[in-house]
Amino acid sequence: LAAGEYGPEQNGRVTAHFGRTLDVRPEGGGDAVRCHLRANLEGLVTGDRVIWRAAHDARDGVVVARGERDSVLERPDARGQLKPVAANIDQILIVFAVEPAPHANLIDRYLVAAEATGIAPVLVLNKTDLLPERGGELRALLERYEALGYPVVTTTTEREDGLSALHARLAGRTSVFVGQSGVGKSSLIDRLLPDEELRIGALSKDSRKGTHTTTTARLYALPDPEAGDHPEADGGELIDSPGIREFGLTHLDEQQVTEGFIEFRDLLGRCRFRDCRHRQEPGCALLAAVERGEIHPERFASYRRILETLEDT
Ligand code: GDP
Ligand code: ZN
Repeated sequence: LAAGEYGPEQNGRVTAHFGRTLDVRPEGGGDAVRCHLRANLEGLVTGDRVIWRAAHDARDGVVVARGERDSVLERPDARGQLKPVAANIDQILIVFAVEPAPHANLIDRYLVAAEATGIAPVLVLNKTDLLPERGGELRALLERYEALGYPVVTTTTEREDGLSALHARLAGRTSVFVGQSGVGKSSLIDRLLPDEELRIGALSKDSRKGTHTTTTARLYALPDPEAGDHPEADGGELIDSPGIREFGLTHLDEQQVTEGFIEFRDLLGRCRFRDCRHRQEPGCALLAAVERGEIHPERFASYRRILETLEDT
């Protein structure tokens, strides 16, 4: 193809990818344009920032460069090797529900996995319409995580105002939802993206011919409920795929697990032995902090259990 067939370079963001074919949304908004990758480029994923050029007939385009990544979310492929699945995510929303009630250890597993990615975790407690019957137990659990510095958002898809705190959290950021089956991820996303068109992924009409059906991670611009239909409204962005929703504790080593407990971090250099494994070593700074009540015993028990499951695999 002659260079003259393409317009000038512009910025964009990948909203979906199918092998060497990508959908790219122009910076500043508008429908995505189906693009192919210049030969020397590979490994682009949904959420990547790119430089691209539109074809002069505007039907498609070519991606010529990938921008720097702030963050990347990886998943093991069929052979167990970690592969990037999405990039430039600002926060991981870990969804759990009043029913089925979460165990603290499960929350800790998700937090450790999120901490290992370097992406900020947020705890979302859904189905709060069921909360009155459950009493204050979950509230107390959540307060413990808030005290560690984790944002906590409570939601219900059953009430009109149930998602307002969530909308505020999503605005201006790129997010993913993760969590166990049945906690309400689909219900939450359906409420955030009520428009079928939005969910399929806004793609320009010309690009839509020959649409691929592969289930890839997709990037959605969320409407801002406060701003009505205003096109510049930044209700935030969501990257979603079945694989991303199943994100969990995979391929972590002992050091990543230890550093995944954020309240341990300042203490880690302070054990008497440099290679302290925080089991029963004399002069262990973590054990001393548990003793003093500065580390919650349940968090420390979680830590031990997570390490045990690493040893089993
Ligand atoms: P997912 O597996 O995480 O995607 O969960 P779903 O969205 O499929 O929800 C699982 C079940 O919980 C469905 O029966 C939903 O109707 C129900 N559900 C979702 N959100 C709420 C909520 O806020 N309150 C109540 N009571 N039920 C909910
Ligand atoms: Zn120690």
